[in-house]
Amino acid sequence: MKHHDVIVLGCGGLGSGALYWLARAGADVLGLEQFSHGHELGSSHDHSRIIRLSYDGVAYARLAPYSYACWSELEAESGIKLVHKTGGIDFGPAESNEELQAVVDTMKTVGIPFEEWTPAEAMGHFPQFTLPDNVRVIFQAETGFVNARQGTQTHALLAQARGANLLEGAKVTAIIPKATGVDVKTNLGDFSCGKLILTVGPWLKVAMQLLGKILPITVTREQVTYFKSPTIRDFAPDRFPVWIWYGNREHSFYGFPVYGEVAVKAAEDLGGQVSDPDKRSFDKDERSDKTLRNFLGDFIPGILGPELYTKTCLYDMALDRNFILDSLPDEPNILLADGAGHGFKFASLIGRIMAELALEGQTPHDISEFRFDRPALTDPNFKASFTIQDRILNEWFN
Ligand SMILES: Cc1cc2nc3c(=O)[nH]c(=O)nc-3n(C[C@H](O)[C@H](O)[C@H](O)COP(=O)(O)OP(=O)(O)OC[C@H]3O[C@@H](n4cnc5c(N)ncnc54)[C@H](O)[C@@H]3O)c2cc1C
Repeated sequence: MKHHDVIVLGCGGLGSGALYWLARAGADVLGLEQFSHGHELGSSHDHSRIIRLSYDGVAYARLAPYSYACWSELEAESGIKLVHKTGGIDFGPAESNEELQAVVDTMKTVGIPFEEWTPAEAMGHFPQFTLPDNVRVIFQAETGFVNARQGTQTHALLAQARGANLLEGAKVTAIIPKATGVDVKTNLGDFSCGKLILTVGPWLKVAMQLLGKILPITVTREQVTYFKSPTIRDFAPDRFPVWIWYGNREHSFYGFPVYGEVAVKAAEDLGGQVSDPDKRSFDKDERSDKTLRNFLGDFIPGILGPELYTKTCLYDMALDRNFILDSLPDEPNILLADGAGHGFKFASLIGRIMAELALEGQTPHDISEFRFDRPALTDPNFKASFTIQDRILNEWFN
């Protein structure tokens, strides 16, 4: 059985980040990936993921600048541009919008500069939007997007160049904690390690079952659509920002300027249905498609054009939709990172934090909100902080 300092189980966005930072720190590291690296069955494929400082929680807003810094280091080492800043519009119904208010309060607390615009001012800056008077609009200049596919590829390639092993087609079927490390069984052989990092994304519940544990994680099938806008020039990155509509516990939406395709990408956040990563469908959700088109028709009508394609992807979330960055209770040699359906922007930083936890037992970052022993992961009566289309929120307790 070959021994490694660290094994990274699951090499999507977060696992590839961990592989890179571990290899960079000089660790003997093995990455195990059940499919081919860069596959489209999980969460980290497609061209773009939003990156921003404008978060609705202080824990994230304090980490966010380090996230940009980690991507910068990767860009410097690879020569590949991964982060594209366009500025970002956060907007939503003005009245009693707790989500948008939380974004504003957080930026004030952390000292992140932003501008608050009237709808008329916003349309002056970006005439692509049609905004009624009862909408609140925030602009933050650092918002942009990360190239998800290339970010994941770059992490893995540079990790391998520094000596990391990445075994594709290696499905982990057993995890056996030992006093001084962990043994792992796969269809391609067995391995042992001092520390195991779980970055299995939507397969988190499945991986925990290998350890005889049940974790309240919801997986949903989400989708993004690329629209062939007839006025595509208006939506190029030099003219159009990243945007997020905060529906205040109603439907929320987000979108990007033109990137990766000759089309404009937009999506409903949490518009999908509860899903199983191994039995999922890849079909378009017609209800979410209609909801998105209605929203775009009202607020950003120029995007609407023939569909280039709709692509599905999976969210995996604790009930509070917060990350998990911690070791498992009673298993100090097994670490876990979960991005909660909004983690790609942090993939490099999370990889670095996991490497620090695995190799040094600590990180300089405050990740206390993302620990394991919080109510969202331990209290069977915890009420989900989010709603989803079919409103099946507690199926894991049945
Ligand atoms: C539609 C959509 C839009 C999003 N938009 C944003 C955004 O704008 N900004 C943002 O920051 N985030 C966004 N996210 C969230 C972000 O993409 C995810 O948080 C992130 O990609 C999760 O990465 P991961 O490595 O945890 O999961 P994955 O990329 O799915 O990787 C997990 C890997 O583990 C492997 N694995 C699982 N079990 C095993 C096993 N037993 N053996 C071997 N390998 C295994 C899987 O094959 C997979 O490759 C979005 C997600 C979706 C779906």
